Amino acid sequence: MQRVRGTQDFLDLTLFNFIIDRARRHLQRYAFREIATPILEPTELFKRSLGIFTDVVSKEMYTICAGEGDEQICLRPEATAATMRAFFNNNVEERPWRVFSWGSMFRHERPQKGRYRQFHQLNIEYIGAPSLFTDVECIALIDSFLSQGLMLDNYALHLNFLGSLEDRERYRGELRAFLDAQPVLPKAIVDRKETNLLRIFDLKDSDCQALLANAPTLIDSLSPESHAEWEQLQTLLAHVGVSFVINPRLVRGLDYYNKTVFEFVSMALGAQNALGGGGRYDYLSQTLGESDMVPSIGAALGIERLLLLLESRRDTLPLPREKALVALLPVAEAQQPLVLVCAQFLRHHGVCCESFFDGGSVKSMMRRANKHGARFAVIIGEEEQRENLVVVKDMVTGSEKKVRQEQLLDELNVT
Ligand code: AMP
Repeated sequence: MQRVRGTQDFLDLTLFNFIIDRARRHLQRYAFREIATPILEPTELFKRSLGIFTDVVSKEMYTICAGEGDEQICLRPEATAATMRAFFNNNVEERPWRVFSWGSMFRHERPQKGRYRQFHQLNIEYIGAPSLFTDVECIALIDSFLSQGLMLDNYALHLNFLGSLEDRERYRGELRAFLDAQPVLPKAIVDRKETNLLRIFDLKDSDCQALLANAPTLIDSLSPESHAEWEQLQTLLAHVGVSFVINPRLVRGLDYYNKTVFEFVSMALGAQNALGGGGRYDYLSQTLGESDMVPSIGAALGIERLLLLLESRRDTLPLPREKALVALLPVAEAQQPLVLVCAQFLRHHGVCCESFFDGGSVKSMMRRANKHGARFAVIIGEEEQRENLVVVKDMVTGSEKKVRQEQLLDELNVT
C-alpha cells in the first residue's frame, strides 16, 4: 500500500510542533483564542464564499459524499469561511472575535515541492473588525511571528489594495477595455475574462504575464477615499516598522477579498513561493447569506512551507531539548517484573524510560540502549534483585556503580 498522492507521513514532528508552539505563544500576546472547526463542512459554504469560478471550488474540492438529505459535504479547502460560519452558528457576540486555528486542508492540486493535496495551515482571523488599524496589526502580527517567533529573515511582504466594490467594478470596465483593445489574447485570459476577470493576474504563463505587464492597475483607479485608505495603510505599516513591496497584480486566488490583500513570499521556496497570505473580507458574511455585514480580516500560513524554510536552519533553532533517556535492562526473565515496576516508578517522577523485555544478552541490550541514545543504563540481575540493588551505567563516561533501589532516582538526577 502506498500513501495517497499528495499526502505526507510526518515521522518527526519536532519542527511542526515548534511552529505551533511558537504560534500559540505569539498569538496570546495579541489576545487571540485558539479554536478548532470540523474538517467536514457543507460544500455550499465554499461555493458561496470562494466563488464557483475559483480553481479551488471548480477543480480542487474533495466532495466526499452526501450529508443529510441532499446536502453535499466536503473536506475543507481553507478555514476562513468555516470560521465565519462558526461565528454565526455559535452566536458569538465578542467583536472583534480574535481567533486562530490550525489543521489539515485539502485541495486536489497537482502535487509538487511545497504543494500537497493534504496540507496544513495556521489561520488567524479578526472577525468583526472594521478599522484599518486592524489590517496593520494583523500584518505586523504575522511579520513579527515570522521574524521573531520563527527567526526567519528570508521572506518579503507583498501588499496590494483592492478598494471598494465600486472601485473594482469601475476597474473591471477599464481592464476589459484594455483586453478588448489587444489584437490577440491568450486562451487562458479569454476563459477567465468571462468568469473571473481579476483572476487573470494569477495566471503564471509568460505570454499572459507579458501582456498583463501593460494592463491598468487597480490602485491607479481607486476612488479618492480608497486611495486615502491605501496611503494610510502604507504609512501605518511604516510606523510599526513593517517593510513591504507594493504588488499591484496581487489579487489572491479567492473571491471574498476587498481592500487590503497581502502575501508573504520567499525566494527560498522555489516555484510555490507563497508562505502565507490574507486580506480583508468585509462582505463574506453576507455572501454566506447572513443579513449582518461583519467586516473582517485574516490570513493563512502554510505550515509545510514554513517547515521547508526552517528545515535548513534547524540547528540554530531553540528546539525543546529531548529528555535524557534511561534504559532498564533485566538480565533474565526473573527480573522483568522488577524492571516493569522500577520503570513505572521512575516515569511517575518524570524520568523518560525504556525497558527491554524482549530477552537477549545484556550485551545486545546495551547495544540497543546505546543506539537509542540512552544517557544511563540500569541493569538488574539476580544478585541485584536479591540485595535490593541496581547497577547504574553512565553511557557517556562508561563508569558503573551499584546503588540501592531507593536511591536510584537521586542517582540518575535527569528529570
Ligand atoms: P491560500 O488559502 O490559498 O491563500 O493559501 C495560504 C497558504 O497556504 C499559501 O500561502 C501556502 O503557504 C499554503 N498552501 C496553499 N495551498 C497549498 C498546498 N496545496 N500545499 C501546501 N501549502 C499550501
